[in-house]
Amino acid sequence: MQVRFLPGEPDHPDAGRRHMIRAVACVAAGMILPASARAAHRTLAAPPRIGRALPPRPLVMLDPGHGGKDPGAIGVSGTYEKHVAEAAAAELQRQLLASGRYRVELTRGTDIFIPLEDRVGIAEGRQAALFVSMHADALHDPSVRGASVYTLADGASDAQTAALARTENSADRFAGPRFHGTSPEVQAILASLVRQETRVGSAHMAGSVVNAFRPQIGLLNNPSRHAGFVVLKAADIPSVLVEMGFMSNHQDEAALRQASHRAMVASAMTRAIDGYFASSAAGFTRLSG
Ligand code: ZN
Repeated sequence: MQVRFLPGEPDHPDAGRRHMIRAVACVAAGMILPASARAAHRTLAAPPRIGRALPPRPLVMLDPGHGGKDPGAIGVSGTYEKHVAEAAAAELQRQLLASGRYRVELTRGTDIFIPLEDRVGIAEGRQAALFVSMHADALHDPSVRGASVYTLADGASDAQTAALARTENSADRFAGPRFHGTSPEVQAILASLVRQETRVGSAHMAGSVVNAFRPQIGLLNNPSRHAGFVVLKAADIPSVLVEMGFMSNHQDEAALRQASHRAMVASAMTRAIDGYFASSAAGFTRLSG
């Protein structure tokens, strides 16, 4: 049921304005105002704040992988990647907001399916300064464990990453006939359209993630890798995909199920994002807000 205010009710949208008009008139007439009118006067006629303006805060777009009908990888103990990604992104959002240095939005805050192109579109539409896609995929080799970070390129850095990109890019098979997956040729064209400074920013962010993770969180060998990930193709938003660990590895899956481990990952990610924005590589990014 829609709540409607009647004219004259204290919560009517015009009530504050009428209070202010009355307050101004009363002050002009030298009258003592009732407390409610004084409060309204304070609220509506407060002088602009004096002092240093708040520094601009860049918008960080977090992208929890998969969701809805796409579970992502399913762990050896049955954990769904989509749930791990969502919980980790929520914790990272909490930590970034607590720092007061960023605005943070999520491509999905609930368990819904979003096609890859739409994830990029959300970041572009909101003019994000940085895009971070969060995953915990599966590999064929269950012994491989550790975190890793990926940037967009037209060729894959290694066979394992090529396979990972194929799996990630096939997420759109859940989307129905509108999306048919993206061929390697189209991925190469997309990658070539990404601006040079966006590539530099993405590479810098990937380096910052590796540096922040190294002291605390186990990393894959050669943890900074690249391939034709469709979700990283925003032309002017530096973008990385972080694999927080692999669902195909028993220890990684067990760790990512724990809130304390996800908090540690989020803390390292926050340091990585701080490092990125403190660097000159972020100099060209949008800093509005
Ligand atoms: Zn994934």
